[in-house]
Amino acid sequence: MFLKGKTALITGSTSGIGLAYAKLLASEGAAVMINGFGDAADIEKERAGLEAVSGAKALYSPADMMDGDAIAAMVAQCNAELGGPDILINNAGIQFVSPVEDFPTDKWNAIIAINLSSAFHTIRAAMPIMKAKKWGRIINTASAHSLTASPFKSAYVTAKHGLAGLVKTVALETATFGITANCISPGYVWTPLVEKQIPDTMKARGMTREQVINDVLLAGQPTKQFATAEQVAAIALFLCRDEASQITGTNISVDGGWTAQ
Ligand code: NAD
Repeated sequence: MFLKGKTALITGSTSGIGLAYAKLLASEGAAVMINGFGDAADIEKERAGLEAVSGAKALYSPADMMDGDAIAAMVAQCNAELGGPDILINNAGIQFVSPVEDFPTDKWNAIIAINLSSAFHTIRAAMPIMKAKKWGRIINTASAHSLTASPFKSAYVTAKHGLAGLVKTVALETATFGITANCISPGYVWTPLVEKQIPDTMKARGMTREQVINDVLLAGQPTKQFATAEQVAAIALFLCRDEASQITGTNISVDGGWTAQ
């Protein structure tokens, strides 16, 4: 339990990859603050489960990652009640698929706010806490789309490229403070986010569900397999170790070879 005494704040962790991060860090003893939307009873079950696994406190914040003030309040609550974050994982994300000329402005604004600007707000608020402790781990879930593009995902690709730039800058600013900042960039991971974009992609490309899975989602993933949320979380856990203290400002792919092409 090498994370005993540490606190992890994970945005967008009521589901998918974020929940996998929370479970893995809790299994190493971290106190965890989870965040995101969903059914209240389901969230409470996950929160209580995290406490049982870690033996430390687990809290839930309903802060909306579109709202900078709510994000600052979430970090302040994490500091007041859990004494952190020592580990900050910016993971909340949404997707919308449309040709750029039809891309709804409100969807563009929401994707930039949730997938990119929320990380600025959390990092900004967490930085004084981490600097005072001279230890910190900032991890952004980016995407293969932080390194390459696909059609019809203009806002998502823009936000993910932005996250990759943000960690480079933050890594340079924090290099002498015992803080590292990195991106993890998954290819396709089978989660609700991926499942939800299938109908829009079917519409945008005029394809069946099977065609979208095999010819679009896994077309660029040379292993022809989805990555798992647990495989992504394992990289975050490694980044929290002392052995990873010299890994900063980088972008680690978990994409079955997608961006090697
Ligand atoms: P998911 O839909 O299962 O989880 C998204 C989480 O974000 C949920 O907890 C949801 O409640 C939360 N969220 C959404 N809007 C929010 C808001 N306004 N405020 C607070 N929380 C909000 O999706 P996932 O696939 O686990 O995705 C997690 C991250 O991984 C995202 O950043 C996504 O872009 C990235 N990613 C996913 C894949 C993939 O194939 N699944 C690939 C690459 C990157």
